[in-house]
Amino acid sequence: MDAMPELKASIRTIPDYPKPGIMFRDITTLLGDARAFRRAVDELVQPWAGSKVDKVAGIEARGFILGGAVAHQLSAGFVPIRKKGKLPHTTVRIAYSLEYGVDEMEVHADAIGPGERVILIDDLIATGGTAEGAVKLMRQIGADVIAACFIVDLPELGGAAKLRAMGVPVRTLMAFDGH
Ligand code: AMP
Repeated sequence: MDAMPELKASIRTIPDYPKPGIMFRDITTLLGDARAFRRAVDELVQPWAGSKVDKVAGIEARGFILGGAVAHQLSAGFVPIRKKGKLPHTTVRIAYSLEYGVDEMEVHADAIGPGERVILIDDLIATGGTAEGAVKLMRQIGADVIAACFIVDLPELGGAAKLRAMGVPVRTLMAFDGH
């Protein structure tokens, strides 16, 4: 059972988007609801409130919106993880698996110092391919990834379990069945 039914109700589901068979969990309705947005940001980082967090890393693009708010809340810096070719300075890059094929993501090489404590944020974890790539990328530049936080978990796709197996504590606020 989900502990936060009001939060879950603020998310809109679009069937068959972007392709048949996918239930797209649209968080723009949560973001547009002042109470839900605040609650989601508060709840995402509740276990780490009061502990030392140096940086919050957000995955393009919905992870930027949530990650910026979370970083402000924790008085931490914000680090964008972007699709390749978007960041202007020296980057490190990693390939990661998507449902069909691969893509690449990047972070600025100097965005996180060795040993800095980082929380990763995105809106949703499905297969975990995207988040796994982000964790590996940050570890390459020496980050200590202390947690990964998502509003939505699709547990049947196994992403959260994959991250936990990499030694990353995972926090999600609600789960949906299926894809
Ligand atoms: P994955 O790498 O499989 O864990 O996919 C996670 C990324 O894809 C996140 O950035 C999500 O925003 C997006 N995503 C995957 N499945 C869905 C879905 N059913 N609804 C909304 N976004 C999704």
